[in-house]
Amino acid sequence: MSARSLDGTATATRIRAELADRIARFTAAAGRPPALGIVLAGDDPASQIYVSNKLRTAGEAGCRAELFRLPADASLDDTLAVVARLNADEAFDGILVQSPLPKGMGRDAEQRVFDAVSPAKDVDGFHAQNVGLLVQKRARLVACTPSGVMQLLAREGIALAGKRAVVIGRSDIVGKPMALLLLHQDATVTICHSRTPDVAALASEADILVAAVGRPAYVTPAYVKPGATVIDVGINRVDDAALVANWYPEGHPRRLQFEKKRTLVIGDVYPAVWAVAGAVTPVPGGVGPLTIAMLLANTVTAAEARAGLLSAD
Ligand code: NAP
Repeated sequence: MSARSLDGTATATRIRAELADRIARFTAAAGRPPALGIVLAGDDPASQIYVSNKLRTAGEAGCRAELFRLPADASLDDTLAVVARLNADEAFDGILVQSPLPKGMGRDAEQRVFDAVSPAKDVDGFHAQNVGLLVQKRARLVACTPSGVMQLLAREGIALAGKRAVVIGRSDIVGKPMALLLLHQDATVTICHSRTPDVAALASEADILVAAVGRPAYVTPAYVKPGATVIDVGINRVDDAALVANWYPEGHPRRLQFEKKRTLVIGDVYPAVWAVAGAVTPVPGGVGPLTIAMLLANTVTAAEARAGLLSAD
């Protein structure tokens, strides 16, 4: 059996297209487009790529997106000062602070910065107030990656009510909000983490399995119930030729890609899972594009809410 590929790129394109009307209406009503401020501290190469994708996507959709850069040796206070300026600036509807922050800012820097973002402009959905609203199933701004996964599941017609869902990973940005969103759609949800004994036994009971671990090819066929839907959130850069040779047979397009570039982005799901599962999100082209589409959706929602264009719900 070969699993159906859940095309995140196509779904993300549709989500962005659907936002066009809302962006046009907001722009006409407010006299300016929805605006997103992105704060990037340091020079992490992956972060620079993520940020430039976010800026480009927002710009192409007709939003205003502006980058605020800080050097790698900037302090936490410098970062908090930029956030405070953006909070106070009426011209910005959304604020995103790119993770990870430079190590020199301290261990709790990210939490302190997320706490400092105005909840009304919190397009990442990381502020404690928005997380609390999510727990109570009444959040407007929800973390982008899990809400993108929910969009994909809904649009692909994958039933959740009464189904068993297992989420591997309990981070604040993916695992926990993912589990809550699945619960809100009436799935019976189990969360696994690094201290869970026999993750494979639990995972293999799932109708919907979400892997948000950050370990390349962690989910092997032993973790997957035949016919299950497998959502691969992981993004892992691999440079080890022996690993790639183990995952992909000679002549496989992914192996050829590795031989050319000597590096490959791999998800958390072992390639052989495709022979067992009913549907799988590819990496790349699965969850990643949805995350950016939902960032745009959150920016538009924040703009509409701030302008009083949304009904209170
Ligand atoms: P994270 O904060 O490092 O969390 C990883 C989670 O996996 C933790 O809860 C950890 O458990 C659990 N874990 C680690 N080893 C495990 C094991 N052997 N068995 C079971 N659970 C294990 O990572 P994250 O931020 O949630 O991201 C997860 C992955 O998703 C990463 O690859 C990241 O790059 C990717 N990601 C992708 C997108 C996207 O747009 N596609 C967005 C965000 C993140 P403990 O809590 O016990 O440590």
